Amino acid sequence: MKQGIHPKYYENAKVTCACGNSFAVGSTLPELRVEICSLCHPFYTGKQKMLDTARRVEKFQERAAKQKGAAALRKGRKAKKEKGEIRKKTPRKIKSEE
Ligand SMILES: [Zn+2]
Repeated sequence: MKQGIHPKYYENAKVTCACGNSFAVGSTLPELRVEICSLCHPFYTGKQKMLDTARRVEKFQERAAKQKGAAALRKGRKAKKEKGEIRKKTPRKIKSEE
């Protein structure tokens, strides 16, 4: 091994998970902090879990709700417009015949 080019290797680096689990691995860092491990990952637990660190799911749901509201408003306006067109199309022959 060439001297002076390799980082220090920790045989028993401690890995700490957000769920509280910890175990040792070989690493160039003495301590690692992870968000998920094999004890709490949905693949292994079989339970649904949302890992939303950037609030993406929440943001999407907010946006979707906003869109829904806007769509309802649009629908209302469209319905009103159509109603107006129906009114315009109704013939007024009766008045002219009088
Ligand atoms: Zn974990």
